[in-house]
Amino acid sequence: MGCGTSKVLPEPPKDVHLDLVKKVEPYTGYKTDIYKHFIKGDGDAIKSAIPSPPRHTNPHVEQAEPRKNRVAKYRAKFDSRVTAKYDIKALIGRGSFSRVVRVEHKATKQPYAIKLIETKYREGREVCESELCVLRRVRHTNIIQLIEVFETQERVYMVMELATGGELFDRIIAKGSFTERDATRVLQMVLDGVKYLHTLGITHRDLKPENLLYYHPGMDSKIMITDFGLASARKKGDDCLMKTTCGTPEYIAPEILVRKPYTNSVDMWALGVISYILLSGTMPFEDDNRTRLYRQILKGKYSYSGEPWPSVSNLAKDFIDHLLTVDPSDRMTALQALKHPWVVSMAASSSMKNLHRSISQNLLKRASSRCQSTKSAQSTRSSRSTKSNKSRRVRERELRELNLRYQQQYNA
Ligand code: ADP
Ligand code: MG
Repeated sequence: MGCGTSKVLPEPPKDVHLDLVKKVEPYTGYKTDIYKHFIKGDGDAIKSAIPSPPRHTNPHVEQAEPRKNRVAKYRAKFDSRVTAKYDIKALIGRGSFSRVVRVEHKATKQPYAIKLIETKYREGREVCESELCVLRRVRHTNIIQLIEVFETQERVYMVMELATGGELFDRIIAKGSFTERDATRVLQMVLDGVKYLHTLGITHRDLKPENLLYYHPGMDSKIMITDFGLASARKKGDDCLMKTTCGTPEYIAPEILVRKPYTNSVDMWALGVISYILLSGTMPFEDDNRTRLYRQILKGKYSYSGEPWPSVSNLAKDFIDHLLTVDPSDRMTALQALKHPWVVSMAASSSMKNLHRSISQNLLKRASSRCQSTKSAQSTRSSRSTKSNKSRRVRERELRELNLRYQQQYNA
């Protein structure tokens, strides 16, 4: 959800064109490994990294099948120390600064995700530094765990826990039903993770549905927070105020827009936006024109009109209202949000009405209008998440099918 993946990054450079994947230089032997102290488990792969083994010795890679070719293409971007230890299986995510692949640990057969970040340019380096700085410090059940890190002069490879349950909205759509109770379950997990981060002095700064992943495909899966590329970790002695303008437009808190020093309550604003989307499939603040969008946010102007809002409890709306509060000092903290009666009672007093039909219809409307504007914006953008575009297309198709099914049911 949101403007594709058009993040507002900290101080974007004026003269650098970010080319993440095209210019890949062949591996030329062992390079510096500033993170090697962090590598857990056996470091054999690193020690035995010289010389680099020939690539594509596996005959399967050369098969004409497009998917295999794609995997082969991405495998070629991996340092031999990584491929000595992990089998590259599939590309699972593509963000503004990264590629994420599913891998398998050769010895244990354990699956992991590797996030590859190009660090040739400043943006990539900064995103990578933020992400590593945070991931190294955190250990929480609702936060993706870093396993180990490999580094070359131009790339960093972060081996992480693999989340196989998909992004939040893909799951909601696939599930076929969604109640307020389901929403409180999701939010409780995210709030637990966010409370932990805030206690450590870490502000995520890019909380949005795409960065919330289900750990496994089962119904009882936990949710995990990912993508700490924009996160800010306070050092000892720092005051708790941040000044950098960054985030994803639809989720940016008003105080960031007016360039006031801000605190970790910007994450709570983003959680208000996420809660609103969770319960309706629509965005509280939305406009293709960024100035108008920011104006809406600054006024804190959103409404509960249209479906399914009449069916949503007042307690749920109260929860959102206490997050989408323009004055950050009046906004709930993560702890307060966890103690909000709607969350504590797990929406016990709300109707168990299935909001799924309206949510999916709203998502469908949004996805198709987004597709139109995305097409027209294609020529101007430099880097976008094709994963998001792909999942949007998949989502659109799934929603069409779902709506067709609903219509058939209703007409029957
Ligand atoms: P970016 O900063 O470029 O947005 P992300 O860390 O959000 O990068 O990764 C992009 C996408 O890759 C995510 O939206 C998600 O779909 C997928 N992804 C990232 N990390 C994992 C992981 N650990 N397990 C499974 N999928 C992941
Ligand atoms: Mg992301």
